[in-house]
Amino acid sequence: MKSKIAPVFILLLSVTLNSATVMAREPYWGERRIELLGFTEQQILVLESTIRQLQSLEPGELKIDKGVYNRLSRFKELFGFSFNGRDLSRWLLSRIQSISYENSWTAAANRNQGDFFVGDLFFKQMSPLERLYSLIHEARHSDDDGYKHTRCPKGFRYISSRQPDLNLEKVPACDNSPYGAYAFQAALLFELFAFGLFEQDEAGLLYNSSISRVIP
Ligand SMILES: [Zn+2]
Repeated sequence: MKSKIAPVFILLLSVTLNSATVMAREPYWGERRIELLGFTEQQILVLESTIRQLQSLEPGELKIDKGVYNRLSRFKELFGFSFNGRDLSRWLLSRIQSISYENSWTAAANRNQGDFFVGDLFFKQMSPLERLYSLIHEARHSDDDGYKHTRCPKGFRYISSRQPDLNLEKVPACDNSPYGAYAFQAALLFELFAFGLFEQDEAGLLYNSSISRVIP
């Protein structure tokens, strides 16, 4: 008798444990009715850890010259609140309707102002900091008319450090608006640089790279 019950019990236990593992997602996906499509559990964990890092951001002590900070900080002007991770993660999540796995020419995309697409470039090649700012970038495409990119100018001098095979000249990867996705991405990177969050030099270099896409 014992020998028959034990295997059944173990089977039930393992089914319960497996479904618990599958269901153990952060509550905000369900609360905000954000669909996750085509991801492995591992990829969902990466998405969740990116959002957790975002939530935990706190300004702390300024680590750069105050005059430079006052001159170049645009976070509050653009986002409408002072730099802090809790409000920023809400700002991000409120701009997402779904996130799907898809490989395209870019690391992430946002179609229909809320349908996000991320692929292998996002999961396999990007650093945690790059994942974080790229979600903020995509979220800005959910606002107003979507802030579509303009073509980078002829003779554009900057390169894409993330995609070395990409020729940015005349490619729609620039903004002629100071309120577009690259401005928002740069504004976040500037705060991370200024407060020494993440690697300060990586944040600073990425800020320079991002602001170069905003054509005056
Ligand atoms: Zn974009």
